[in-house]
Amino acid sequence: MGNGVIVTSVMAHVNNDVLEERCKQDAKWGKQRHDLGGWLMILMEEVGEVSEAMMKERGWGKPTDANDLYKELIQVAAVASAIAEQVLEQSEA
Ligand SMILES: [Mg+2]
Repeated sequence: MGNGVIVTSVMAHVNNDVLEERCKQDAKWGKQRHDLGGWLMILMEEVGEVSEAMMKERGWGKPTDANDLYKELIQVAAVASAIAEQVLEQSEA
């Protein structure tokens, strides 16, 4: 990449997991198109699950199935990626 910065193996691993999650989303929902308000609701729902997973590690909060912090973070990044894809496509249209 630029500026002599090296893509580390952990960067590649995480981003590959995000890409895999993006493919899972498309397989589950098809190609999603929403207005930005709709996307923000979806993104914030996923961010809430990150918070739930963090709270669970502290023994806080209500019972939740958001128990895998790594997975929840990947889902946030994947939703952000889907929004970015739409923004990019619309800027090129
Ligand atoms: Mg989630």
